[in-house]
Amino acid sequence: MEEKTGELKKIRDEIIVLKQSPLYGYRTENKYFPVIGEGSHDAKIMFVGEAPGKNEAMTARPFCGASGKFLDELLSSIGVDRKSVYVTNLVKDRPPENRDPEPPEIALYGPFLDRQIEIIQPKVIATLGRHSMKYIFEKYGLSAALASVSKIHGNAYTGKASYGDVTVIALYHPAAALYNGSLRDVMKEDFKVIKKYL
Ligand code: URA
Repeated sequence: MEEKTGELKKIRDEIIVLKQSPLYGYRTENKYFPVIGEGSHDAKIMFVGEAPGKNEAMTARPFCGASGKFLDELLSSIGVDRKSVYVTNLVKDRPPENRDPEPPEIALYGPFLDRQIEIIQPKVIATLGRHSMKYIFEKYGLSAALASVSKIHGNAYTGKASYGDVTVIALYHPAAALYNGSLRDVMKEDFKVIKKYL
């Protein structure tokens, strides 16, 4: 088996039995799946969302509901095939009623995201939402640049990863554009920035 695939499977196997997670009982009671991530293991760009929603937890696939449809549209607007990117979340299990992830959940699942980044080694990490933004900015020493997504969306920052420079771009969460139509065009412009760094 290709080495990256093996390492990513190991992450999946560990999360499946993550009984210490505050979200484990909710997952099993509802017959949900953890959502590990999906896409090319050699992706140049990784998208990091917040946590799976209901559609995602029912199918084990990230961004497969309404937000995912808009994400697909944004990718095709810059001529990028979804299969060529890697899509994951900060928290791998669905929080009840789609509430925000809580600090202990972020602390527990964050290291799995760290490992995914080390394995895939993307050139660009685009965060979708404020929790993934905060996590990734802090991880790459960009805390000083942190502000609300409305202030820093579409800006590109250079972080130092173990494997070299990584471009970090904060984006609105696609669900925000579903509630606020004017954000659709803003997100389309922000995606053009991603294209520049690929
Ligand atoms: N919202 C997220 O943050 N992640 C998903 O996978 C789906 C919706």
